[in-house]
Amino acid sequence: MMSSAALKQRILALGFTRVGIMRAKPSPMVDMYLRWLDAGMHGEMAYLERVDHLRRRHDFSAFIPDVRSIVVVALDYRDLDVADTMLADPLRGRIASYAWGQDYHEIMTPRLMQLESELHNGRAYVDTGAIMERSHGQTAGLGFIGKNTMLIHPRRGSYFFLGEIITPAEFDTYDEHPTPKSMCGSCTRCLQACPTDAFPRPFVLDARRCISYLTIEHKSAIPLELRHRMGNWVFGCDICQDVCPFQRFATSTTEPLLIPPPPSAARAAPLLTDLLGMTSAEFNAHFKGSSVVRITHARMVRNACVAAGNALAAQHPAASALIPHLTRWAHGDDTLIAEHARWALAQASPSR
Ligand code: SF4
Ligand code: SF4
Repeated sequence: MMSSAALKQRILALGFTRVGIMRAKPSPMVDMYLRWLDAGMHGEMAYLERVDHLRRRHDFSAFIPDVRSIVVVALDYRDLDVADTMLADPLRGRIASYAWGQDYHEIMTPRLMQLESELHNGRAYVDTGAIMERSHGQTAGLGFIGKNTMLIHPRRGSYFFLGEIITPAEFDTYDEHPTPKSMCGSCTRCLQACPTDAFPRPFVLDARRCISYLTIEHKSAIPLELRHRMGNWVFGCDICQDVCPFQRFATSTTEPLLIPPPPSAARAAPLLTDLLGMTSAEFNAHFKGSSVVRITHARMVRNACVAAGNALAAQHPAASALIPHLTRWAHGDDTLIAEHARWALAQASPSR
């Protein structure tokens, strides 16, 4: 029997912000998740349908046979000092706040792996294990799931990453309690603020319409009817979190590696002319160590074309600087990018 207090102390000393421990049991949200998959709301993320992924979501013994406990950790990520006016500049390509610093997998995974052996063959996961992490975070007392589908801590907001250790260890005390009810009440701010109407109803996100999915996971052409709603986002989207009233309790991250290196604009909202002008090697060097590199240079250029089209549509006085870059991409060999660049150029025309 292990001391939960001692483990929590170790985890907080490793820099995590919060931790909860629950007994290993299936998520009460698995059926809802399967209905979401059946409705095709996961878009091109076919890996979510894989048999091994589905089994893991049902059954923790798919990870280790004698599993008894799940340790869920949280790490606050937002640097609240980055200026909103800079982020909203239509001539900049905005990046979701979780990706401003170093890739969180690289920060969290080695720290959790330090604990694996202490926990009798525990296994650490950060986004990688097909785990219903928000649901388990809720069961382990780290918050409630809001209508925007995020895990929200009532006194810290929702700008935090989750990680898990799945372990055969047994603890003297557990944090679990009956599934907390949502504290959203009659609020619908996130549902109303979503620019692409990605919530068909509260607590359900249709990824196919979500800017985060479209800019990061979606490999083919961005649907025409959504492009003009995507504003200046080029990697992810924070809107349904930013508008949540519980964010007034959020505090800046204390993890230096999650703070964008100066100048913060270069990693939080680079100029679109820079994004469109970079070579693939320059893109990799600029975003080295960040999760942004995962989408590759080509997908970033595709996304930047959409943001540039929106700046031209808004008739921003300095948006004409984008036109030479878009013209070059419109005549390039990459047919997907060329189509997005032509769409962007067409937005400059008042007769569009
Ligand atoms: S991340 Fe953005 S696009 Fe996606 S649901 Fe939230 S507000 Fe809508
Ligand atoms: S914005 Fe309102 S409805 Fe949406 S998650 Fe926050 S409290 Fe809930």
